[in-house]
Amino acid sequence: MNLKAVMFDMDGVIFNSMPLHAKAWVKAFAEVGVDFTEYQVYLNEGRTGADTIDEQFVKFFGRHSTPDEQQEIYRIKSGFFRQMPAPGLIDNITDVVRFLADSGIARTIVTGSGESSTLDRVERIFGPMFSRELMVTARDVKHGKPNPEPYLMGLRKLGVQPGEAVVVENAPLGVKAGRAAGVFTIAVNTGILSRSDLEAAGANLVLDNMLQLKDTLAEMIGKNENDKIKPDTN
Ligand code: MG
Repeated sequence: MNLKAVMFDMDGVIFNSMPLHAKAWVKAFAEVGVDFTEYQVYLNEGRTGADTIDEQFVKFFGRHSTPDEQQEIYRIKSGFFRQMPAPGLIDNITDVVRFLADSGIARTIVTGSGESSTLDRVERIFGPMFSRELMVTARDVKHGKPNPEPYLMGLRKLGVQPGEAVVVENAPLGVKAGRAAGVFTIAVNTGILSRSDLEAAGANLVLDNMLQLKDTLAEMIGKNENDKIKPDTN
């Protein structure tokens, strides 16, 4: 592969926000007497709030939720989430992004989130290492992950082919989206899921942390350089 670009998911890859989302969801469901575990939150990451609520209603009550119930539970969840502190960064993610910038590899963020405050934080923290114009957010797409649309749009914005890019994800549905877009997809298991959840979703590689990701990307970029040298020696 001639690696030209890396597309990062945001929640659980850039920001350590999943523990906060998990707590907020469990508390919100508890308010209406429905059991929901943090593990389920991680498995559902990337689904819309309405779909998450409806699926759990079918499991728990044996019936679908009404639009009113969906709105009410999501409102409660958002309320809990907003009371929590802003999430920190995933350990060593800035090193990975800076390394790619220094290596001349294009970068972007492809997220199902549309939270402008979070996107503003990306700009504040990473500055020119990410450009807002290249990002894909909830507002840009019709179909969210696991549909390939967000990552296909990322490829278009970056001007690269699927075979020239890597997707970095932490969630099964995000992994599915990356693979459906035809992109080599690396899962970094930053949360509480078991490795097999990410493997079953189709991840090409499952890593434990961002230091391993940096090493893996360095190796891929090293191969780029070798490929460039070879023709000259003939
Ligand atoms: Mg994620």
